[in-house]
Amino acid sequence: MLWTFAICLQLGALSWAAPLARSGPGARNKLLLISFDGFRWDYDRDVDTPHLDVMATEGVKATYVTPPFLTITSPSHFTLLTGQYIENHGVIHNMWFNTSTQQRKPYYPTQFVDEWWDNGSLPIWITAQRQGLKAGSLHFPGTASSYQGQKALVGEVEPALYNYSNETAWRENVDTVMGSWFGKLDLDFVSLYFGEPDGTGHKYGPDSPERRAMVSQVDRTVGYLRSSAQSHGLAERLNIIITADHGMSTIVRGSQVNQILLSKIPGFSFRDLDFQLLDYGPVGMLLPKEGLLDKVHAALKGAHPHLHVYRKEELPAHMHYSRHPRILPLVLIADPGYVVNGIFPVQSNKGEHGFDNQAMDMKPFFRAVGPDFQQNLTVEPFETIHIYALMCHLLGITPEKNDGHLDATRHMLASGQQTEPSGGSENSILFNALIGLGVVAGILVIVFVVVVSYTRYRRRKPRESSEEANENDVQIKQSTM
Ligand SMILES: [Zn+2]
Repeated sequence: MLWTFAICLQLGALSWAAPLARSGPGARNKLLLISFDGFRWDYDRDVDTPHLDVMATEGVKATYVTPPFLTITSPSHFTLLTGQYIENHGVIHNMWFNTSTQQRKPYYPTQFVDEWWDNGSLPIWITAQRQGLKAGSLHFPGTASSYQGQKALVGEVEPALYNYSNETAWRENVDTVMGSWFGKLDLDFVSLYFGEPDGTGHKYGPDSPERRAMVSQVDRTVGYLRSSAQSHGLAERLNIIITADHGMSTIVRGSQVNQILLSKIPGFSFRDLDFQLLDYGPVGMLLPKEGLLDKVHAALKGAHPHLHVYRKEELPAHMHYSRHPRILPLVLIADPGYVVNGIFPVQSNKGEHGFDNQAMDMKPFFRAVGPDFQQNLTVEPFETIHIYALMCHLLGITPEKNDGHLDATRHMLASGQQTEPSGGSENSILFNALIGLGVVAGILVIVFVVVVSYTRYRRRKPRESSEEANENDVQIKQSTM
């Protein structure tokens, strides 16, 4: 009986893990998640964006979306991939660091540090693949790492020296995704990343003509992408979500500006610290030496009118940036317009992000279009933690534990997709569970009939010796354990 139970459990498990196929006209469509890094919610207001406008008419537009804090690239993208706040998924910064050895790695090398990314939360690629789908990722932060030994089936990581703003390369990447990945390889889900308009926003500022030109380039690319979907025969079965990781805010400059420079603050000393992450935009983190946390906190608190100093457990609740052990004990956050400098004012960007996610300048845009979305619908703002649950629903897969909920975005879906008639996660779990239980029950009935028949047969047959009878008893006892 043990082996039959083992088989039953395996069949049950298989039915749980099977892809949640939809039937009829709502058959599962493909999904493309695109991030244009640093595309602020209002960047379409001072630039003609005909393709983004058509996308809004043919699909859904959110007024804006709220990213997680802290509003920087890798942490915020990992929230898109996992549906978790940063304090829960653990990718708490763009930079890997080790407070004991004083080592830090910048954004790009950190992409390859598995332990930084793979710390308990699974990105949607892995979850989709474990449930029978095929996923790919092009340049999306997190692509280079493996998760519990797995990566996206198809992945492309940009080289260390890469021009993130080359429009020709953008089109080649679109061709790869549409023609090769969704077309030839028949992938179900792809995440696609573009490093602009973030770079231009940093360099020239969000109000510059250079930023506006880059938004035009984004818009042309959206047009190219949608016509590429059309020409590859994908438009009717491809849902597209376009969003970003954060916005951008202008940094105030000039001799009259009271810059935040920690080395100038009376009572503060770098000698009181074991480790610091500073000179990285508007947020700094400090690890004071043992017993000196209160001293460092007291020196910095109130020292500058645009600097907010928090013990990590005292950070405002809406930031959800307290719980993870990687977050250092003191967190410094500048007001929009300012950055946190350590010894020298080394930061020269005209635009920055990283600020409080309540600041309007930090809000990204959101568009969605495709067979499962409503048309010509503008929705109220929502948090980007909810995009993961929406994507899992569209793919018909069971999400991992996350901080979002489909209820935040359900109203965007075409009426047939708002509930889960044959493929949605909750119903499918129940359906698959019932199939699994049915298989178990069926096998138990067969085993019961065989055992009863065999026992009756043995009773009719004359026993040749008492020794053999004892042996049979033992065998039957063993088989019913
Ligand atoms: Zn970014």
